[in-house]
Amino acid sequence: MKIHNFSAGPGILPHDVLRKAAESVIDFNNSGLSLLEISHRSADFEQVMQQARSLAKELLELGDDYEALFLQGGASLQFHMAPLNLLKNKAAYINTGNWASEAIAEARKVGEVNVIASSEDRKFTYIPTKYTIPIDADYLHITSNNTIFGTQWKEFPQAEIPLVCDMSSDIFSRKIPANQFSLIYAGAQKNMGPAGTTLVVFKKDILGKTGRNLPKMLDYELQYKKDSMFNTPPVFAVYASMLTMQWIKDNGGIEWIEALNKIKAKTFYNEVDSNPMFEGTVEKPFRSYMNGTFVLKNTAVEQEFERMLKEAGISGLKGHRSVGGYRCSMYNALPLESIKVLTNVMREFANKFA
Ligand SMILES: *Cc1c(COP(=O)(O)O)cnc(C)c1O
Repeated sequence: MKIHNFSAGPGILPHDVLRKAAESVIDFNNSGLSLLEISHRSADFEQVMQQARSLAKELLELGDDYEALFLQGGASLQFHMAPLNLLKNKAAYINTGNWASEAIAEARKVGEVNVIASSEDRKFTYIPTKYTIPIDADYLHITSNNTIFGTQWKEFPQAEIPLVCDMSSDIFSRKIPANQFSLIYAGAQKNMGPAGTTLVVFKKDILGKTGRNLPKMLDYELQYKKDSMFNTPPVFAVYASMLTMQWIKDNGGIEWIEALNKIKAKTFYNEVDSNPMFEGTVEKPFRSYMNGTFVLKNTAVEQEFERMLKEAGISGLKGHRSVGGYRCSMYNALPLESIKVLTNVMREFANKFA
């Protein structure tokens, strides 16, 4: 039976990417050797790293004033590494959910943090629109997509200070003005590749201002001087991420994936809004096109719904353990067909129980 993978993370990857990545584990580029057993300094792998870095910049339409790295430690390490590299006097943060809160907590270990807006008052069901950005802060940090609660920034803050963004769960899902950001980071495993690497993209002129003597591994400047190969990189995760970026490019680029993602999200939310059994959990203007959160109004028939999901081959729809309900993760690689299977089940369920 075909399984429809709605997992929130690690998330679905394109089938062609998985097949090619799997082949590389046995025989990489017809070398007779596995990608996992060759030197990361070999010409074959250096090319993979170069290609991954240049595709990331290409998809974000960034020029030579930016660098892209593939580091380790997940987005969680970036919560600490970004302030280590950028925070001299104080930083401004906007709190839109769990991950943003984690970023704030880690930054506070480095220096002064002003939380200039938060949506915690209404359980992170919206994105704050009223805030004043302090012009004397070193940077403003936001989280573009709130993976757990299901909200997403549609328009980004106009900041005179450097803008820093955790894009772990919506990187490469839509056209963004990337050159308005000074630093973007994203753990690969939601929308780009396997766990184990983190994309870090930054404007070169933001570095070297804190005077901090950083550990080598945590220094963006050193990492880029070493071409993202200071130590052994996570070769498989970088290779599969590169294949995913290539897949986006070959199919028509960000415009193509954005159009597809919009259709998927509309199809899903139309069903949520028209179906008497369900309701969405966040304010409509801020609904995420990546993670659609919703609840069953009558939990007495929850088991019936879950049985129908299972029969249809729908996997990974359960909401995050901290919020409950359901979460329809619609990452780039999820086909529209899977959304249709889900909405059909929702309709059938309503026909039976409404
Ligand atoms: C999953 C997630 C993280 C945590 O990523 P790790 O790579 O596991 O550290 C951080 N931010 C966002 C927005 C996420 O979705």
